[in-house]
Amino acid sequence: MTSLNQDKKFPEGMKPLGKKKFKFSCHPGVSCYMLCCRNVDMLLYPYDILRLKNRIGMRSDEFIDRFVRITQGNNPFFPSLAMQMNSKNCCPFLGDEGCLVYEDRPAVCRTYPLERAVDRTPQKGQPQEFYFLTQHDYCKGHEEEKEWTVKEWLRDQNLMYYNAMADVWAEMDTLFSQNPWAGEGAAGPKQRMAFMVCYNIDGFRDYVNEHSMLDHFKIPGSRKRIIAGDDEALLNFGFDWLKFILADMPTLQPKR
Ligand code: SF4
Ligand code: SF4
Repeated sequence: MTSLNQDKKFPEGMKPLGKKKFKFSCHPGVSCYMLCCRNVDMLLYPYDILRLKNRIGMRSDEFIDRFVRITQGNNPFFPSLAMQMNSKNCCPFLGDEGCLVYEDRPAVCRTYPLERAVDRTPQKGQPQEFYFLTQHDYCKGHEEEKEWTVKEWLRDQNLMYYNAMADVWAEMDTLFSQNPWAGEGAAGPKQRMAFMVCYNIDGFRDYVNEHSMLDHFKIPGSRKRIIAGDDEALLNFGFDWLKFILADMPTLQPKR
């Protein structure tokens, strides 16, 4: 996902689709089938990790060790994660007949052939999202006859919830890009803690339980119960906690 700058310049040569239809279809009959799951540089967001590790029934720390590489994305003050290709230079979740984790595939796999950009210019009120059509040279899906509006594509790919989580993540990423580590530098205790919250949700759950963290804040019992059994709710709590400790934001109320 791209964040647009203040004067809302769209990427060179790209125009938002708006309500215009686009042609696309991806199915086992296209000659390029599964080509885009090989040798791909694919960033993974916190929600992607959470969905994937739950899909395959693995702890997040083990998932990161086995399937993820740490990389330097656009944020100079916080590492990004990317899918580690296997020894055949394929996504590790590519099976003989297609994606093995289809219902839980990462946001980037769902969004293609669209690209999403969000204008967060505060004076414009609510953030505004734009979608662009993007095309890999080898992708034959664009030669198919099936037509979509952006709205139809988002619904078909179940992208609404992924996008909502991406927007919450974008707020965190913006916070991290302001170097909130207070002189600790990269890989200091605060940054390591933030890494755990964002990417290693099972490690964070252990930490929350060991330190009875939920009892330190005024949190309704109903939210506590949801957090206790739901990784997404825990991730949202973790984001609130990071905003509270790193930026003094009133996202949580400590008990006196
Ligand atoms: S997660 Fe699935 S769709 Fe995405 S690159 Fe891997 S195999 Fe392909
Ligand atoms: S290259 Fe395009 S059409 Fe081919 S499998 Fe990938 S998304 Fe589908």
